[in-house]
Formats: sequence, C-alpha cells, structure tokens
Amino acid sequence: MTLHQNLIAGEWVGGDGVANINPSNTNDVVGEYARASAEDAKAAIAAAKAAFPAWSRSGILERHAILKKTADEIMARKDELGRLLSREEGKTLAEGIGETVRAGQIFDFFAGECLRLAGEVVPSVRPNIGVEITREPVGVVGIITPWNFPIAIPAWKIAPALAYGNTVVFKPAELVPGCSWAIVDILHRAGLPKGVLNLVMGKGSVVGQAMLDSPDIQAITFTGSVGTGKRVATASVEHNRKFQLEMGGKNPFVVLDDADLSVAVEAAVNSAFFSTGQRCTASSRIIVTEGIHDRFVAAMGERMQGLVVDDALKAGTHIGPVVDQGQLNQDTDYIAIGKQEGAQLAFGGELITRDTPGFYLQPALFTEATNAMRISREEIFGPVAAVIRVKDYDEALAVANDTPFGLSSGIATTSLKHATHFKRNAEAGMVMVNLPTAGVDFHVPFGGRKGSSYGPREQGKYAAEFYTTVKTAYTLA
Ligand code: NAD
Repeated sequence: MTLHQNLIAGEWVGGDGVANINPSNTNDVVGEYARASAEDAKAAIAAAKAAFPAWSRSGILERHAILKKTADEIMARKDELGRLLSREEGKTLAEGIGETVRAGQIFDFFAGECLRLAGEVVPSVRPNIGVEITREPVGVVGIITPWNFPIAIPAWKIAPALAYGNTVVFKPAELVPGCSWAIVDILHRAGLPKGVLNLVMGKGSVVGQAMLDSPDIQAITFTGSVGTGKRVATASVEHNRKFQLEMGGKNPFVVLDDADLSVAVEAAVNSAFFSTGQRCTASSRIIVTEGIHDRFVAAMGERMQGLVVDDALKAGTHIGPVVDQGQLNQDTDYIAIGKQEGAQLAFGGELITRDTPGFYLQPALFTEATNAMRISREEIFGPVAAVIRVKDYDEALAVANDTPFGLSSGIATTSLKHATHFKRNAEAGMVMVNLPTAGVDFHVPFGGRKGSSYGPREQGKYAAEFYTTVKTAYTLA
C-alpha cells in the first residue's frame, strides 16, 4: 500500500506508516499515512519560517491563482474526495460530498479575498499628516484540527492563512489524515512555493506539542476539545503568540407550543443525530414547552424509527457509524449515566450490528431529563440527545442559556416576538430560527462564546482579524 508522506519544505518525507481505518468496516484500510516526529515538526516550522519573507510579499495574483486552482480541483474531484471523507470519518456519502463542496467554496472565497485586500486612509487629528491603516500577515501559523470535519475545517483555516500571506504548519487529527493529505497535495501541485505549507501528520502529544512549544510560530488556530484548547492557550500566552480556539458545545434547541411540529421535529432530528451527532454545533439538549411536549416526543419517536443507521457509503444510509471505539465507549457510557441519573431512554441507544464490523449505535433520545444532569451539561459528541420539559418561553430561554458553552442555539416557533427575543438573548455565537443548530454558510462568521470559543471569529471576511496584524502608518505631508 502506498505510504502517504508528510510535506516538509516542499518535499514528501517520512517514516513509519499508520493505517487509516474505515469506521463502517474495520477490515477496510483506507490508506497508510506517515507519522511525524517532534523533529519533523521542528523541521516543518523552520521551513515555514524560511518561506515567510518571500510569501508574505508575494503578489496577490499569485496567491489568488493557487487558491482558485485548488478550489477548482476540489470541486472537480468532489465525489472521490467526499467518498474518501466518508470512508475515513463515517459520515454519509451525501454529507461527505457536501462537506467537500464546502471546502471548495471556501478556497474559492479566499481566492477572491486575495484580490479584495484593502486598507484605510484617514485624516490625522494633526495638520499635514496622513494616516494609513493596513493589514499585514502574522507570520508562521500553526493549524491544529479535529477529526469530525476532515476537509472543511482544514480548508477554513489553511485558505485564509495563505490568502493573507502567512506560511503554515498544519497538523490534522490522527483519525482522519486522508482528506488533509489530499488538500495539501492539491495545494502543493497548484504551485505553492517550498515551505509555504507544511503537513505534519501525527500524534497531538508529540507533533502538536512541538508546535505549542515553538517560539517560531506566531499564531495558532485550534479546533478540538476544551482540554486541548486550554493547553494551546497556556502555551500561547507563554510565547506571547496569537491564538484562536473553537471547542465544545452543548447546544440547546428550544421547541415552543406554537412551533410547526414537522419543522421542529426535522430540525431537532438533524441537529441531534445527523453526522452521527459528531458536530460541535449538534444539539443534545432539546428544550420543549409543556403544551407541545407529548406530541413532539411522539413525533420524534416516529421520525427516529425511519432513520437508517448503516455503512456510510451505502445508498439509503441516514446515519453512519461512530468514528471509533473510544468515541463509541464515551457515547454508551453517557447513555448509562443518563439512565442512572433518572432520565428515561425513550428511543434507541442500542449497539447494532450490520453486514460489516463497524461502530454502529442506534441514535438515543432521553426524555424526563433535567438541565442539571450530566447528560445535559457535558458534551457527549455522539447521537445522544435529551428532552427537557419546561413551562414556557421564559423558562426555555433560561435553561437554554444555563450552560458553560455558547456555540449555537436554536428555536422552533411561529411567533415573531419570541424569535426576535431569542435572537437577541440567546448566549451563543450563532442563533438559528426554525433551522437545525448545525449547518452554516461558508462566507459569514463562525464561532461561539463562553466556554466554546476564544479569539476572533473564523470564516468570511472576519477571518482577517486572526490571520493579519494591523499597522498604522503616519506620514508628514
Ligand atoms: P482533541 O482536542 O482531542 O484533538 C484536536 C486536535 O488537537 C487533534 O489534532 C489532536 O491531535 C491535537 N492535540 C491533542 N493533544 C495535543 C497537544 N498536547 N498539543 C497540541 N495538539 C494536541 O479533539 P477531537 O477529539 O479531535 O475533536 C472533538 C472535539 O472538537 C469536540 O469537543 C468538538 O466539540 C470539538 N469541535 C469544535 C468545533 C468548533 O468549531 N467549535 C468544530 C469541530 C469540533
């Protein structure tokens, strides 16, 4: 089997291979991927540092052309790359292709941003002086990504980093090196100069830690768990470097008495269970007012019976497998915890077998949960959700906001008054009305508040805030 190597200083290099396993069929090896060492990470950082002066002054047309070419190739290969994504991560083929298209759109958007870079010229408060405000690249950017969006998250970090003139050291999640390798290969062939983008696949504790410990990385953008995010923050403060964290969620989805029942059920099922519940924007707390509670729960049960859990690549599958044994154990542990805490497991929650050996779990819905239970407070990151019954809108909003997290928050209602109030008062970075808590556009800001995020927003024009540093220049006329 071909070994997919790391890219350091424009050369494919490396070492021992690790098998990338398909969670729908653990007998299926997706590929062999080299595992970088701490020394490799140091070499990658040195290469990015050496490449920075030239790339930071490169022409905007050169950057535009490389990102556009990358976008075009991703789009042209969307079925193949979407299949690779589904095979290594386990989300359905439709979801895998959809995420791949999104990655293409992101590269396309930032190709355009290269041509839209602008500053400001403003009058000085002093006579005969002009003031210019410009954005400059930050330097070497470290990119550390999680396993649950194997192509979109690398795309939404790499594309702006390069568009604004930074050089990159990129460490993808151990579980899903395939899509990351593929987009680095595309960018490399699209004409990036040596050392501008370096790929170091490997362990977080080795490769990631070497990045955190380096004084030569000026900014780190991280998406992953709260625990690792805290390490990134501490190490970055130590090195006086810029950092950006996107972490966990415990996103609420409120259903009010006046909701359109079918809209509410569709949005709740999508929020809680699509992509096997493995989305930071997934909703695992469904907060339902008492007038609609019983009808909503019955309709959820009916809808959940129609969900097909099977091999991610099979036509007709709605929910693919859990990503690996460790995550499956976490999901089943929380199902046991929910029962012990006194919530009722109304639907699903059983391990299931299919034609191939994989990590299959029937989506689980608890009822009679309270917001104080661990299943309502801690991120599970699987197809496990709990319905919390509340009296009215005011209680629903209070429960929705009663969480350490603040990424996404949703509501199903036909009341303009409640929708408007919720948009204003939900303590979250993103608010959804009559839509699932997950599923966002690629050209507008993404991010959260409270324990979910730290630093400037990602995506869209707002990405410039993190990937550039502002300079104010004064000139005597
Ligand atoms: P994780 O924190 O275990 O790993 C994330 C990345 O950090 C991986 O690449 C890992 O190798 C690396 N890492 C681990 N230890 C490290 C260390 N000591 N130094 C440097 N890097 C290290 O998270 P995960 O399990 O891959 O992802 C799941 C988590 O990601 C969930 O909590 C989920 O909510 C979160 N997530 C958040 C968003 C968001 O935008 N808010 C999006 C997707 C996922």
